[in-house]
Amino acid sequence: MKRIVLVFVLAILLPAILLAALALRSLRDQELVLDSQRTRLHQSGCDALADRINLFLDDLRGFHSQLVEELVAEEGTRIAEDFDERVRDQWSQAAAAAVVRDGTEILSPRPEPGTRAAAFLEDHADFLTNRRVVEIYQAPRPLSREVETDTPEREKQEGLATRGVPVAKAAPSQKWKVEAYDRRSAPPAPAPVAAPATDAYARIEDASDAATTPRFRSVTPAQQRSLTEEGLADDPTLSAPVPPANLSALVPETVDNRQVTAGGNEGAVSRLLDGELHILLWKRHPGDPRLTFWTELDLAAVRSDLAGIFAEPQSAALSREAAFALLDSDAAPVARTVSGFAADWSAPFVASEIGPLLPRWEVAAYLLDPSSLNAAARRVRLTLWIAILALLGAVAGGSALVLRSVGDEMRMAARKTDFVGNVSHELKTPLTSIRMFSELLGGAESQEPGKSRQYAEVIERESGRLARLIDRLLDFSKLDRGEMRLNPAPLDLGGLAREIVGDFKGQGEAAGMKVELSIPDGGGPQVSGDRDALAQVLLNLLGNAVKYAASGGVVSVEVAAGPDRATLSVVDRGPGVPRAHQRRIFERFYRVDDSIASGVDGSGIGLALCRHIAARHGGSIRYETRKGGGSVFTLELPLLA
Ligand code: ADP
Repeated sequence: MKRIVLVFVLAILLPAILLAALALRSLRDQELVLDSQRTRLHQSGCDALADRINLFLDDLRGFHSQLVEELVAEEGTRIAEDFDERVRDQWSQAAAAAVVRDGTEILSPRPEPGTRAAAFLEDHADFLTNRRVVEIYQAPRPLSREVETDTPEREKQEGLATRGVPVAKAAPSQKWKVEAYDRRSAPPAPAPVAAPATDAYARIEDASDAATTPRFRSVTPAQQRSLTEEGLADDPTLSAPVPPANLSALVPETVDNRQVTAGGNEGAVSRLLDGELHILLWKRHPGDPRLTFWTELDLAAVRSDLAGIFAEPQSAALSREAAFALLDSDAAPVARTVSGFAADWSAPFVASEIGPLLPRWEVAAYLLDPSSLNAAARRVRLTLWIAILALLGAVAGGSALVLRSVGDEMRMAARKTDFVGNVSHELKTPLTSIRMFSELLGGAESQEPGKSRQYAEVIERESGRLARLIDRLLDFSKLDRGEMRLNPAPLDLGGLAREIVGDFKGQGEAAGMKVELSIPDGGGPQVSGDRDALAQVLLNLLGNAVKYAASGGVVSVEVAAGPDRATLSVVDRGPGVPRAHQRRIFERFYRVDDSIASGVDGSGIGLALCRHIAARHGGSIRYETRKGGGSVFTLELPLLA
């Protein structure tokens, strides 16, 4: 049994548990893959929109450069005086403009009180004349080793960056279009730049500006939150650590005006003044590099153009699952792809920083129905758990059945072994008597004549017993092979009982037992049955009464008729069958005590035979404890119609 349990555990239980664990693991992996696919999809949506915005800003810079060239061509040196006016006339997106000589002197406009020009000069004059350094934002350094191996390009970029020129870096998800400085058209060797912030008149912007330095993003994307939560921030395979949840990848840098314009002919720069964004475009005079034209963009106009980008159909079609929004530096929505959509703007699913020209601005994606994703995931998980539990339940149930049937088989095998022992014992007893009395008979000549008759009688009786025993074994083997033939015919059960009891009386008395009979007045009842088979049932029951209940002194056979059934009961006053065995005494080979232990011969097939014969007649046989002690075996047969 132990081996069976071991085989069962190794062959069924362990593989089943392993399969369940694998299924759960693969589900988790699948969820992770789906999650990362979703993240990548929406991240690429954000990146695409950010690229689109940077292209738009680049177009503005290009337009500015073209406009300056046209105005210079049209007006010649006069343009140094009325640049502000002309630019605003020709370009609705321009808020104010100025011309600066040598990075120290503003040639125009005049700060006439109350005008836009006055406000512009108030904000930017110090910077334009190099009396104040400002903080600008650089594209991030690459995060992965792969990108870092691109050394020559990187060195070139870093070289430019240290000179205050924002350049594009090839970081995978941050390929920002910040080539605001047309390096292809840069003059071959610009004048060497003075070391930043060391000029006597350059000073750091005031504390409130420094405090607004956008080192932290205005949003915390869920995807980055989970990166930090999962401890991936310390992943050793990344050369640079993943930034904490909402740290900006933009690098703030303090530069002065000359650093900004060094190394190029045109460009753009953004400043955050008191938290307010100012985008400045600049262009060098094509013929006189000492003159620089500066134009501030009208932020309201730029905002509405950006809103237009988000309203374009291809932006709206980016994803069915998510809405995209453009957020300003306060994480307030400037534009969105799904009109009327609202969310906790600072907690998007994923987001992309746009670039140095829109510091702290973000393109953010929000799941339209986050709960539906969770619900779908929950549903899949639940289904899998149900399947696993069903599988384990089936394994457990199947195993219980297998173990039970194996147990039954083993018990039956043990019982068969007992049976062989019991039968041998049963056969041996009459054979011993026969041999003993044959020997006595052989020497009987010298004895009294009465003795030899007595010996012959014993031999006859014992050989009869042997024959009956063998008949029973043969019957049982026929029954076992399903070959037992019955010849049913109308039969008077009372008459049969009277006959058998009559024949049995002598045997009962020999064992010290009185055999009584009770049948209904007028005979009957009538049944349809095989006479020999039913006689064998009654003989078996009477034989058992003699074997086990001789102490009771009396055994009665009672025949009765119910409304549709006839009953034949054999009632004794013996010890009865202990409760624990009552259900099993009709099983094949079952004995309460074996022959050797009890001293009573038997093979455990008598009652099994009775039950089979009863069933073949459409009836049944049952055991009941008799009140006051003893057994009642009742054969029940259908009445003859
Ligand atoms: P066996 O050959 O052992 O008699 P049976 O199938 O006839 O086989 O009986 C099965 C068991 O039922 C017996 O071993 C005995 O313990 C019990 N049994 C049968 N009849 C009686 C009875 N009248 N009184 C007590 N026990 C009985």
